[in-house]
Amino acid sequence: MKNVAVLGATGSIGGNTLDVIARHPERFRATVLTAHHQVDALVTLCAQHRPDLAVIADPGLEAELSRKLRAASVCCEVASGHDALAIAASGNLCDTVVAAIVGAAGLESTLAAAHAGKRLLLANKEAIVMAGPLLLDAVAIGGGALIPVDSEHNALFQCLPAEGLASGRPTLHKGVRRLTLTASGGPFRGLGRAELTGITPDQACKHPNWVMGRKISVDSATLMNKGLEVIEAHHLFGAAPDLINVVVHPQSLVHSFVEYLDGSVLAQLGNPDMRTAIAHALAWPERVDAGVAPLDLTTCAPLAFEAPDLATFRCLALAFQALRAGGDAPAVLNAANEIAVEAFLAGALPFLSIADVVDAVLAELPAQAVVDVQTLLERDRVAREAARRILRNAC
Ligand code: NAD
Ligand code: MG
Repeated sequence: MKNVAVLGATGSIGGNTLDVIARHPERFRATVLTAHHQVDALVTLCAQHRPDLAVIADPGLEAELSRKLRAASVCCEVASGHDALAIAASGNLCDTVVAAIVGAAGLESTLAAAHAGKRLLLANKEAIVMAGPLLLDAVAIGGGALIPVDSEHNALFQCLPAEGLASGRPTLHKGVRRLTLTASGGPFRGLGRAELTGITPDQACKHPNWVMGRKISVDSATLMNKGLEVIEAHHLFGAAPDLINVVVHPQSLVHSFVEYLDGSVLAQLGNPDMRTAIAHALAWPERVDAGVAPLDLTTCAPLAFEAPDLATFRCLALAFQALRAGGDAPAVLNAANEIAVEAFLAGALPFLSIADVVDAVLAELPAQAVVDVQTLLERDRVAREAARRILRNAC
């Protein structure tokens, strides 16, 4: 029996994870559930899954959570605050942690799980983008395992030789020529810059193939999501930037592929449903039913592949730039992007200006070496401040 902490249980990945867990009560139990401030949603999940601990990140909501859990006849421990997330992720109520909080807010709990030697199922890509080497060290020292849930990385994980892959010390197999991440292209694939003025948040969040949280949906529309994933792949698989390639594949059926020196290409295919990657990561190295419809290639639209348009979707090029700059540049990129996306979702920044803000912050804060988590968090704060100032000056 695996005891699973689902950090970000009320989100899109959290919900899909709980769906898979509920299909296999003999294998998995959700022992810890956390949310930011969605008390009612968390109470509903606790009533369904009966965890040992519920954590609400907003400390002002702990009393309300306790009261509503009692009213729903749910008997579990309650905790609150940012620190409680890290304590829960590293405590003995769980052996497996699904890191599904969105953004830098998930960094400390993800690191805590890694340090504690948990089996870490990583959806929170921003954590590895910000702190790749620190996270890998924590996994290696903690002695647990790091298994990607992001569908592209989970696909690559399935197509690469298993040796050392989840250990925190990955080295790219010598026979690999290139890793290719597929991208759907998002809702604006094929459009030029002129057509992207006046885009609204709701238009940007309408992804053609996936239903996801709003932040990652905007990232998918700008292609920053793919940029973050390039950095994520670099860390997860020990691949140099030049060995990571991106192709647009609008059907989202081929989730990524590995090209080998002998000309072989190994791809992982499946319907676009995150429960496949989640079930794979939960059960690895075994396989379990994910509730996902089987893929029938005879009825699918023809599979198409095209090069990304880096001139229109500049965020992907900026992410490659930050990866090549190294050090804390990816953390700066991520912080600037989080602020810019927040402003776009609030109607305070045009869609195309998201890349301008990220570009300006990267130019203002040249890469520095990553020393420890404290300096990284300070850099994250400085980059957010710079992004907010640039936003104010632009208005
Ligand atoms: P979401 O917005 O649907 O859910 C986010 C979850 O994090 C919620 O439970 C929310 O309560 C919690 N949260 C948000 N801010 C928090 C904070 N400050 N403190 C504590 N908890 C907080 O997001 P999502 O789409 O489920 O994505 C989660 C992560 O998984 C992201 O990093 C995303 O990039 C990654 N991911 C998502 C998908 C997908 O299909 N949704 C696919 C691949 C990777
Ligand atoms: Mg992905």
